[in-house]
Amino acid sequence: MRVLVAGGAGFIGSQIADALIAAGHQVLVIDDLSSGRRENVPREAGFAQVDIRDVEKLLSAVADFRPQAVSHQAAQVSVSKSARRPVWDAEINVIGSLNLLHACVRHGIERLVFASSGGAIYGEVPEGRRAAVDWPAHPLSPYGTAKLAVEHYLDFYRHEYGLVSCILRYANVYGPRQDPYGEAGVVAVFSTNLLRGESIQINARAETGDPGCVRDYVYVGDVVGANLAALQGRLDGRIVNVGTGRATSTLELARIVEAAAKVKATIRFGPHRVGDLERSVLDASEDDPVHPYTPLEEGIEETVAWFRRFLKES
Ligand code: NAD
Repeated sequence: MRVLVAGGAGFIGSQIADALIAAGHQVLVIDDLSSGRRENVPREAGFAQVDIRDVEKLLSAVADFRPQAVSHQAAQVSVSKSARRPVWDAEINVIGSLNLLHACVRHGIERLVFASSGGAIYGEVPEGRRAAVDWPAHPLSPYGTAKLAVEHYLDFYRHEYGLVSCILRYANVYGPRQDPYGEAGVVAVFSTNLLRGESIQINARAETGDPGCVRDYVYVGDVVGANLAALQGRLDGRIVNVGTGRATSTLELARIVEAAAKVKATIRFGPHRVGDLERSVLDASEDDPVHPYTPLEEGIEETVAWFRRFLKES
């Protein structure tokens, strides 16, 4: 199968591209390299530097490659930037996505898999609960609103043009290649800080000194597995949570990274960050495409080992 991976130079997209190549598919990565890296793109994949806001370039890349399926991972991924610049966020995450959907229809592409966000769409998930896919959507940021808008546009494209799609709502993804300088990749930040002998900061869930916000951390390998299942047509027409259902506070996470890095952490406690959800945990039990999920301790071992090699080589 020929698969176009939009955002395939990024953390998750590049590992989807790797897995597709390993499974014998042909891959074209398109990416504007705004946060992705050219060296992440597998050597066996084609690459075109395309901004999904640039309709002409996008249509021409799609026309040349004639993909059968599209994996849409391209996005500006910063929730706080989306709050400061909602129009710019929508230009990339809404209009750019619509350009891609338009290209799919124009070139008769069979299937599209969309990277959505469980954390950003469901909003606060109260203590003891997990958000299933029928949890009321309550995005609290332009980033989450844009993701939800694209989900609705996909309904329109399916209904009007027969474009088959699958929506994957990721929990907090972690693993090798995540940007340690980004705002979201707490596992990447903790891993690099600890391996460099630096302290780590736990931002408060409510009051400074508490164990921090609660998240559902999912290993990138499991996210790739869900994407492959979706690209192969095993999840057509579905909205799927890609999360483990395990609730972990930032402090618990820090202890797991500390054990994997074999470094005693110096912990600072910071205040609550404006806009951070206190608790986000997904329910992925029903007809789950990834079973069993990689246990957090195991995924973090892999991740810390990768960052250890990365820091040595850079
Ligand atoms: P990433 O920043 O590593 O990947 C995004 C990629 O999109 C980058 O390579 C970037 O250069 C590219 N891109 C950005 N704007 C573009 C544009 N205008 N045109 C073309 N390419 C563009 O982030 P990631 O964590 O790999 O995220 C992948 C997808 O998963 C995104 O859609 C993100 O919203 C979604 N997601 C991620 C998480 C997470 O925890 N990492 C959680 C929920 C959803």
